[in-house]
Amino acid sequence: MIDKILDNFRNNNISSDLNKDTLIVKKNDFYKEQIIKIQPIYLDPNTPDENIADSICIPNGDAQLPDDISMDEDVKKYGIESLAWYRSFHWKPIESWGIYILNTGINHIAQKIFFGHQNFNSLDCYQSSFKFLLYHEFFHYITDIAVSILEATHQFKIKLYENYYYKIYEKPNPLEEALANAYAYDNITRLDPGLKRKIHKFMIDQPPGYCDYHSYLNPNKFNLGIRNLTHLILNGIPDMEVKIINDIPFELLFDIHKVNLSFNNVPVYIIQNNPNPEFNFNLITTIPSEKLIISKRFMKDLKKLPNDIQKKFEKTKELLKLGINNPSLNWERIKGNDTLFSIRINIDYRASIKLVNHGEWELLRIDKHDALYDKPGK
Ligand SMILES: [Zn+2]
Repeated sequence: MIDKILDNFRNNNISSDLNKDTLIVKKNDFYKEQIIKIQPIYLDPNTPDENIADSICIPNGDAQLPDDISMDEDVKKYGIESLAWYRSFHWKPIESWGIYILNTGINHIAQKIFFGHQNFNSLDCYQSSFKFLLYHEFFHYITDIAVSILEATHQFKIKLYENYYYKIYEKPNPLEEALANAYAYDNITRLDPGLKRKIHKFMIDQPPGYCDYHSYLNPNKFNLGIRNLTHLILNGIPDMEVKIINDIPFELLFDIHKVNLSFNNVPVYIIQNNPNPEFNFNLITTIPSEKLIISKRFMKDLKKLPNDIQKKFEKTKELLKLGINNPSLNWERIKGNDTLFSIRINIDYRASIKLVNHGEWELLRIDKHDALYDKPGK
């Protein structure tokens, strides 16, 4: 579905120029050398969407970047958008659309919300933080699509998004930000209610609009918020005023449960704005053979195993080349370790694999599930 909308934008030259003074243009320009695209993430469309954050990694798993406290001021002034932002395909050049996340933004959220939570280690914190920012920005994407559907009903002749963006969104107290924050809050705390207090504390320090998220936490209020947002969007049409009729279920246009939309179809960019290479967040995507080291210990294990397992291992290497999110690999992190993972060889056997320097991966052991988790190697 998203492809159809984007094709329409590309083929019919629908996108507009974005005002050079907007924060998005300034930031995309400022960081242009440091922007890294981190997709495609999955080759298999059946991989659960939420797994996106599980494949985020840093070169040194135990690392903890010192927090930049000047970011507190930025968040107070500009809200979450100072850490991550969404660029619509309504703007030219269309190829630049997507979600942009600052490397230091991931760290800032990790420090503010996740460090010290239960027994989270560094990687847990960074992965959760990434997910939190992603959910917020994803709501902007959902809105972008909803507006596009409304525009499509007018053959894209009315620039609803553009009007709305300059006349409503850019003005103080943006409702879209309250809803985006409510969406992120809801999705993260549903998985882990213990985080509610810390996230609330982070949210209320943001500017008006952003900090009003708590007015939209209840599902009915969230839907009413979406209806109001849609009215604002429709009222962006010059000389046309849409009466507020709160019984039109505009929320049907917003795919908040990701039935048709997924993290997978938005380009995600991480901006490596921290000069320290220790903190270059990346998503593990594929492991090509030149990056795969097979340890002596692993070979010793493997030789003892029946032929069919050895053959299976050859297949596993092929799968790693294609993408670690292939369900047959059943990629899992070994708890308590930030850089140690396990993959499935067959129904009985698994292998441990470790991220070593320079983005290389070393196979450490191969054994039955419990034995491997007991002694995964070092
Ligand atoms: Zn936002």
